[in-house]
Amino acid sequence: MISYKELGFVNTRGMFKKAMEGKYAIPAYNFNNMEQIQAIITACVETQSPVILQVSSGARKYANATLLQYMGKGAVEMMKNMAQEKGLREIPMALHLDHGDSFELCKSCIESGFSSVMIDASHHSFEENIALTKKVVDYAHPLDVTVEGELGVLAGIEDDVSAEKSTYTQPEEVIEFVKKTGVDSLAISIGTSHGANKFKPEQCTKTADGVYVPPELRFDILEEIERKIAGFPIVLHGSSSVPMEAVKIINSNGGALKDAVGIPEEQLRKATKSAVCKINIDSDGRLWMTAAIRKHMNEKPADFDPRKYLGPAREALIKMYKHKNEHVLGSAGKA
Ligand SMILES: [Zn+2]
Repeated sequence: MISYKELGFVNTRGMFKKAMEGKYAIPAYNFNNMEQIQAIITACVETQSPVILQVSSGARKYANATLLQYMGKGAVEMMKNMAQEKGLREIPMALHLDHGDSFELCKSCIESGFSSVMIDASHHSFEENIALTKKVVDYAHPLDVTVEGELGVLAGIEDDVSAEKSTYTQPEEVIEFVKKTGVDSLAISIGTSHGANKFKPEQCTKTADGVYVPPELRFDILEEIERKIAGFPIVLHGSSSVPMEAVKIINSNGGALKDAVGIPEEQLRKATKSAVCKINIDSDGRLWMTAAIRKHMNEKPADFDPRKYLGPAREALIKMYKHKNEHVLGSAGKA
């Protein structure tokens, strides 16, 4: 058993409090390999943004749970050294389990140095969701670990999480859920979705140059929830914007992404002004990484050193994370 405090992480409580007051959102970026973590740290130190490093159960299996623990530790040390070298402040970092699906998994993560966990029992009945979430909270809180719960179901596919249809969060359930479980933050469903195909073409309108414009997020539901639990931190999952620029690079270099569409950044910017304190972005990183690798392989077919194509992929990630912190989430300069 190792406490996150020994690894140098913080839980999300202080981050969310400041984000709520300052009307911005903390970025939650997923990682499962070295280039991603290097890019997240570099971008967040250079923009002086607090950050939540996020790991799904699929990523934990992929990277190896033990290695991941030390990658987390390494990330903190890299951040400290980089901040010192550049004469910048150290940034608050949380290590968070994304979509924990069982008490055992949450417990295992907490015991290996996670400072925050999500228990996603949103596909169970309301009563079962409350019971399981409370069980995790009861284990986590004495160890000063924060817990994210979820009400409502997001559509889309991401690692082990998939649902055909979304079910919006019902505002009348949130007071009871938050009170009975004791969670620290709540993921809600207001129209965001996992993956790179967040909406079907028939749900969108199309501009003259063929770009899909998705329907607006349900800000009315968000406002209703804010009225019920004023000042309580809200989380948005599935909030990648799926930039057409990246999709075009992928498809013009042998890729086959069809009808990809995300959440317009303007809508995310609007959400950061509300009680939304954490915004999850995973697909955009996957897309930019794939775009950079495909482009490099297409243009330099003789290269076979992974650093030659993973290096540009890392550069593309750094650029994207900085853009999010500075121009979408408003977290730049808040470390
Ligand atoms: Zn999610």
